[in-house]
Amino acid sequence: MTDGMGSEGSLADIPGRSGRDAVVIGGGLAGITAALALADAGVRVTLIEGRPRLGGLAFSFQRGELTVDNGQHVYLRCCTAYRWFLDRIEGTALAPLQDRLDVPVLDIARPEGRRLGRLRRDELPVPLHLGRSLATYPHLSLAERAKVGRAALALKGLDLADPSLDAQDFGSWLAAHGQSARAVEALWDLVGVATLNAVAGDASLGLAAMVFKTGLLSDPGAADIGWAHVPLGELHDRLARKALDSAGVRTEVRTRVTSISPEENGRWSVQVPGETLQADTVVLAVAQREAYDLLPDGALDAPEQLLEIGTAPILNVHVVYDRKVLSRPFFAALGTPVQWVFDRTDASGLRDGQYLALSQSAAQDEIDEPVAALRERYLPELERLLPRARDAQVKDFFVTRERTATFAPTPGVGRLRPGARTKVPGLYLAGAWTATGWPATMESAVRSGVSAAGAALSALGRPRPGHLFDVEEAA
Ligand SMILES: Cc1cc2nc3c(=O)[nH]c(=O)nc-3n(C[C@H](O)[C@H](O)[C@H](O)COP(=O)(O)OP(=O)(O)OC[C@H]3O[C@@H](n4cnc5c(N)ncnc54)[C@H](O)[C@@H]3O)c2cc1C
Repeated sequence: MTDGMGSEGSLADIPGRSGRDAVVIGGGLAGITAALALADAGVRVTLIEGRPRLGGLAFSFQRGELTVDNGQHVYLRCCTAYRWFLDRIEGTALAPLQDRLDVPVLDIARPEGRRLGRLRRDELPVPLHLGRSLATYPHLSLAERAKVGRAALALKGLDLADPSLDAQDFGSWLAAHGQSARAVEALWDLVGVATLNAVAGDASLGLAAMVFKTGLLSDPGAADIGWAHVPLGELHDRLARKALDSAGVRTEVRTRVTSISPEENGRWSVQVPGETLQADTVVLAVAQREAYDLLPDGALDAPEQLLEIGTAPILNVHVVYDRKVLSRPFFAALGTPVQWVFDRTDASGLRDGQYLALSQSAAQDEIDEPVAALRERYLPELERLLPRARDAQVKDFFVTRERTATFAPTPGVGRLRPGARTKVPGLYLAGAWTATGWPATMESAVRSGVSAAGAALSALGRPRPGHLFDVEEAA
């Protein structure tokens, strides 16, 4: 096998590596993390990725002079595993966090005209850090703001370890806690749709409570937002690849694993076109559907449950204007189909004009709409939101569609998500969809990779590398 990217085959001669081999299948964030963690512990690792690049669901591609992300990705300060990952690949400076949470929220459906509000935090301790921002949030009435405060405190009191939370839906819980449809739209869904990829009524209370408790009600800085100021591929492909190479991982892209099977000697055979790899440890870091197809008999008690984990789409709408129409790095919108808008001009390499990316989560109704229909809908909406867009010329308009962007965070999904360990020795699962307690995020992917590597290392009797992110192992 050759990967065409400069890293060469056999690792048999690498000094300091004693005879343990692992194959990690899937070069998304989960697989990259597992590969790095195993290699850092002295295991010989081969990472196999079917596509021509690493990064899985968070990648970039070229469109003329633009480097485009398949979808805008953000993370929060509380995403400690993803931040560890950024450090590990030496990418932290390229995806900085805001000094302090500050989200401009523009509502264009008010009778009195356009209105800008802000979700910001103070230096005060939790939950007072959001108190002033909530008290002055113009998109809710005074009574709604008071009720939001009470619901937030009730949410803070929920026990995330209580499995019954996963069976309930967040929308019903919000309604039962006095939240109006407006409060759901202008606050809870504004944050929840972007982080869970579902509206409150379609989301597990357990996952929603996890997001809001961890992000808004744990540490004052927990929800400060970070995002890549470079193309995602710079982080998740180029820098990840560099880190893997220096850790001694053999990386093969454009290589699909077709089957994995246990051998009589307790090792594993991993089949790729033209080659059979042997390994003591296999980490299957692919999406749930592919994991189901590759899992050998007996690996899980109820493998068909993996097929019950649904998926949810995210649509990104990309618009290049001939001039600057937005003077902020990003904002969220209300009273329009537009959800979140990011300025990607600098990151994309565009030299003239401005490039905006609209991130549209829970996009079930739009994901298959023709580009022309989306153009007809979104360009006028952008003109309503950004008056300067009215005089600007649209130089390019295109969309990226990720139909299976995340697992669907529906009530009951928690009992379907398996942990890192399977029932067969030497085989582990990773992926944002596994039982990390997090919704389908980069954070969940990295945590799952750490858990899988941690479980594998303990079975191999090897110490975890000292610098490895510490995650409580999922069951
Ligand atoms: C448009 C969009 C926006 C998003 N926004 C955010 C966000 O703002 N913040 C956030 O935290 N998360 C966001 N996410 C979610 C985040 O990208 C994912 O949760 C995360 O990247 C999943 O990583 P993973 O490693 O678990 O899986 P994947 O990225 O799916 O990686 C699995 C890899 O396995 C490979 N593979 C599959 N089968 C085989 C095989 N047989 N052989 C070899 N390789 C195989 C695939 O090609 C893939 O590269 C977004 C996702 C999308 C699509």
